[in-house]
Amino acid sequence: MDADYSRLQEVFGDRLRRQVSLARYTAARLGGPADALLIARDMADLTAAVRIAWEGRLPYRVLGGGANVLVADAGFRGLVIVNRADGVTFHEDGLIEAESGASLVALVRRCITRGLAGLEWAVSIPGTVGGAAINNAGAHGGDMAAVVRKVTALTPPGFVDYTGEEMAYGYRASRLKGSRDPYLVTAVTMQMAPGADPARLASQADVYVAHRKRTQPPGASLGSIFRNPPGDYAGRLIEAAGLKGASRGAVQISPVHANFFVNTGDGGAAADYLALIRLAQEEVRTQFGIWLEPEIELIGFDLAASGENSETV
Ligand SMILES: Cc1cc2nc3c(=O)[nH]c(=O)nc-3n(C[C@H](O)[C@H](O)[C@H](O)COP(=O)(O)OP(=O)(O)OC[C@H]3O[C@@H](n4cnc5c(N)ncnc54)[C@H](O)[C@@H]3O)c2cc1C
Repeated sequence: MDADYSRLQEVFGDRLRRQVSLARYTAARLGGPADALLIARDMADLTAAVRIAWEGRLPYRVLGGGANVLVADAGFRGLVIVNRADGVTFHEDGLIEAESGASLVALVRRCITRGLAGLEWAVSIPGTVGGAAINNAGAHGGDMAAVVRKVTALTPPGFVDYTGEEMAYGYRASRLKGSRDPYLVTAVTMQMAPGADPARLASQADVYVAHRKRTQPPGASLGSIFRNPPGDYAGRLIEAAGLKGASRGAVQISPVHANFFVNTGDGGAAADYLALIRLAQEEVRTQFGIWLEPEIELIGFDLAASGENSETV
């Protein structure tokens, strides 16, 4: 039976859209339709939509930049809320409070202009501050764990604040990532070091951008598909397994970096993406005895059919 979207319709009117392709809301530029989609323009939209979903027991997902999710070709049977609540407050002492839908890259640029050091490593990481705080995004030796002082989340009983320590950060991991309890990250407080030279920060960011251009492919992808296993690199293992350049349909294991799978054109299918994930996992296990764990999340796949019972492969 179709979920009951009447309360959302009442509150959001025509802004609640039905059967909307998610391809343009994910960095891989593929994936089928959500039954219902709402762009949350601000925090009031975001919290109201999530509360209605909880109260009505609607299946729902919040998407930030969609930079870490693979959406099935069949789409998602439920409500997708795209988080565009992006207010940012800069305090004198280098403390920043960002709403969860703020773009991480835009925030990095604003910090650089203000001489606030601490986020330069994130200059090329797509997505939102909320997504980054949940996943402990990181690069070039930096990560969110080093700057996050507080994560504010809405839960069905009310707001909860977690300190950086309480977030229990690890490698692309936190207490919230994969949590089965319902939560919405609303805001993230970060500590920067004030008083830095903007020109120096900008040139450091340029070094990181140039490094990415040299080592990672352009085009529609989800960044690193697999977590690096202890003491090794997923990209190295996939390449050593002879899979660099392998493709399924329009999706290719990048010849530039084998942990990036690029949707090279129109008609790229999530099924092809998943087939390449399976191929890499099987080949690397057969050849090196290592099972690669995906870093990305799958949305809308019927994994039960293949004997799996969760959305993490
Ligand atoms: C080209 C490219 C390069 C990348 N490079 C890096 C890199 O160097 N380092 C790195 O760590 N990552 C990298 N990534 C991955 C990605 O950018 C990060 O994981 C990013 O932090 C995801 O943020 P997002 O807003 O897009 O999250 P989404 O993909 O939208 O969401 C991810 C998960 O978080 C949940 N979620 C998002 N926002 C909220 C919220 N406010 N409340 C509750 N749940 C929420 C979603 O439901 C989903 O389960 C890269 C991705 C791409 C495409």
